[in-house]
Amino acid sequence: MNQPVTARAPGKINVSFRVGPPRADGYHPVASLYLAVSLFEDVAATAREDEDITVGLSSASTAVEDPEAFPLGEDNLVVLAARLLAEHTGHVGGVHLEITKRVPIAGGMGGGSADAAAALVACNSLWGTGLTREELGRLGARLGADVPFALSGGAAVGLGVGDQLSPLLLRNRTDWVLALASYGLSTPAVYQQLDLLREGQDVEVPQAVDPDLLQALVDHDLVLLPGLLANDLTAAAVHLAPELQAVLDMGRGAGALTALVSGSGPTVALLAEDPGHAGQLATQLIDEAGIDTRIVHGPVPGARLL
Ligand code: ATP
Repeated sequence: MNQPVTARAPGKINVSFRVGPPRADGYHPVASLYLAVSLFEDVAATAREDEDITVGLSSASTAVEDPEAFPLGEDNLVVLAARLLAEHTGHVGGVHLEITKRVPIAGGMGGGSADAAAALVACNSLWGTGLTREELGRLGARLGADVPFALSGGAAVGLGVGDQLSPLLLRNRTDWVLALASYGLSTPAVYQQLDLLREGQDVEVPQAVDPDLLQALVDHDLVLLPGLLANDLTAAAVHLAPELQAVLDMGRGAGALTALVSGSGPTVALLAEDPGHAGQLATQLIDEAGIDTRIVHGPVPGARLL
């Protein structure tokens, strides 16, 4: 029996997410502050006798409401990642990839990108293909703009379409409660809605993340930080899922320092003072509104072998 090689990669929240007008190729330029948080995807890679690349979902997955709706074919990002690595390196031989999903699907936390990053790291080790992290990042960027960050982890400013990363060194962690939704939002649909809401407006291409925000994060200034968090996709996500507004209001009402839609939503990230405060917030949201929550912190490392 072949031993699996398992890699773990984090989900992310965008502490700041500025989005510009669509480019000619349809992509939107962004200025993002990514934070990797302690909600992880695991991908276990086992060599196969044949040359197929297959994917399965572990029964330990906590993020899959409807396993039938999860893509287990060629379009799964772990399959695309393994195939890309095999093609790039000339590796011959199949692999089975078992995903343990904890990051909500289509939740705005880059779960699929985390799976792709973990698959690249696991297969690179299993196959002995010896690519550096930088090389894996360049390959990963071809699968999705968030894959390079899932590989690097920590905290980083992302420019371009989010793939041009500059790490931000943070000595202090921040504590968050994630309010999970029972439904997903399609990222392209949220961007499309943003463009509709902005019709006729002159929107600038974001060039940088607010330096005050970077400073507040570095200083762990929980007084200034709440007013500096921002997500340009909020109105579009709320337009498509109006119930999101109630979750944002409830989080603030329960005493969160602030509430923020994560990426394209519908996950909402609530900033807490410390782990104890995060625990209180989570209990209140479950007890009073039946909201499914996860207590997390960031930054945490990027994709790595277990
Ligand atoms: P992002 O925040 O990067 O925009 P997301 O977290 O909102 O993305 P994902 O869960 O990464 O969304 O994936 C969105 C879609 O991609 C899913 O609806 C699914 O059909 C497809 N997909 C392909 N492979 C995967 C995978 N391994 N995990 C999750 N979704 C996948």
